[in-house]
This record gives sequence, C-alpha cells and structure tokens, in this order.
Amino acid sequence: MNHLTLVENKQRPSWFPANLAPLNRRFENLPASDVLRWGLTTFADDIVLSTAFGPSGVVLMHMVSQIRPKTAVFYLQTNLFFPETLALRDELSERLGLQFTEVHSGLSLNEQAHQFGAALWQRNPDLCCRLRKVEPLRRYLADKKAWITGIRRDQSPTRRQTQIISWDNANHLVKLCPLADWTQEQVWEYIHQHNLPTNILHEEGYPSIGCMPCTRPVASGEPERAGRWAGTEKLECGIHIQPDGTVVRVSQVAVNGSR
Ligand code: SF4
Repeated sequence: MNHLTLVENKQRPSWFPANLAPLNRRFENLPASDVLRWGLTTFADDIVLSTAFGPSGVVLMHMVSQIRPKTAVFYLQTNLFFPETLALRDELSERLGLQFTEVHSGLSLNEQAHQFGAALWQRNPDLCCRLRKVEPLRRYLADKKAWITGIRRDQSPTRRQTQIISWDNANHLVKLCPLADWTQEQVWEYIHQHNLPTNILHEEGYPSIGCMPCTRPVASGEPERAGRWAGTEKLECGIHIQPDGTVVRVSQVAVNGSR
C-alpha cells in the first residue's frame, strides 16, 4: 500500500499531499473497507467521519465501528432534521457504540430569522446552507488532516467525478470517499446483510433526506436526490463544492498547492 506524503505549505496553513494520484489509482481496485482502514490507520485521531445519517453513512459508520470505533463521527446540526433522523442517530449510537459530535453554526433559527428574515431556505437556500452547514464544517475541519464522506458517483450528475481520495481545496485537508464507486443497490445490500438500522422515512418515499423544509419524497423512477431542494436548480448544499464550482477536484495537486 502506498503511503501518503504530506508536505507543509509555508504560504498557507495547510498540508498538501504529494502523491494522491497513484494512491487514487490503487484505491479504485480495493474494497471500501480496505480504503477506510488505510485512512483510519494513516490519520488516526486526525481523521473524522461525516454523516447526515443516510444509507451510505450507515454503511461507513458500521465499517468504522468494526475498524476503529473511537473515530470521531460528526454531523452538521441544522436544527431542521426530521425527528426520524434524530431517532436513527440515537439508535446508531446505541447499536454501534459510536459517539457523535454535533457541529453547530452557533446561530439559532430565531437569530437567523431575525438577521436574514423568516424561512431563509425558501428565499436563499444557498445562504441558509452556507450559514448552517458550509461555514460550521469549515471551522470544524480547520484542525483536522482528513475527513471521510459517503458521497457516491451514482447519486447525481454533480457527483459523477468523485475521487476515492482527493484534496479538499475548500477545507484544506484530504477527503476520503470510500464508497465513491458503490451503487445504491450495493449500499442497501450491505445494510440488509448486516441488518443495520436506517431512517424509516426511506420506506415512505424519501431516498435522500436532509433538512425538513428542503426535502420531499420522490416518485417512482425519479433520481435519488430529486427530492432535495425540489423546484430549484440547487443540487448540493455546498459542503462538497470546491472553489472551482465542481464537487471534487482532480486528485493531482502539486506540492505547492497549485494545479
Ligand atoms: S438544506 Fe435547507 S434548511 Fe437545511 S441548511 Fe440548507 S437551505 Fe437551510
């Protein structure tokens, strides 16, 4: 297995990987659990797992609980989760023995309404996501070296180029997506095989679940994420968007941080 060499960049307070591209090629041929084991071993306490309690996250949480259960698992608490999502969080905590870290904007919904007007998600969902998700994430990841997410190429056109390992140029750390090449069917197969709990809303037509105001059920045959910000052109909350507007940058990042 190749080792990741991190090289300090004196001009910016971050570390850049010198050899992501060969690692990425190698990871394309490995099982997700091996990729995850590599990440958890390489970065130890400096890697964190992100979840919004979707099916892919459940798979990763189960794998992490088997490999390195003390890994920090965090979620972005927007105060707008469905009660069913919070019930799943509690069930997963008990079942897998994971301790969740709640990452919050520090902005209550009342404060947000006072500063930006009521129901900001209806008028300016990008700003709402930035306040409640993107900026809190950035602050939380500032002292980490790597993060793990459950995004997959088959979820939406915006995620089709997802790399298994890449440099997150928005948050300045390594990003690991061990399930990038999994299909929705593989995810559910794993869940059934291991008898893992999932959000009961999936049975009511919600394949992808985010905040209550921005999630609706989908009709049969609609894409997995069609119920997110339905009726708008928005496809991503922004936490996976890179400064160039793509979801994932190409993994070749030069040592000096330029491409
Ligand atoms: S998903 Fe909707 S409610 Fe949640 S942070 Fe984004 S715009 Fe706001």
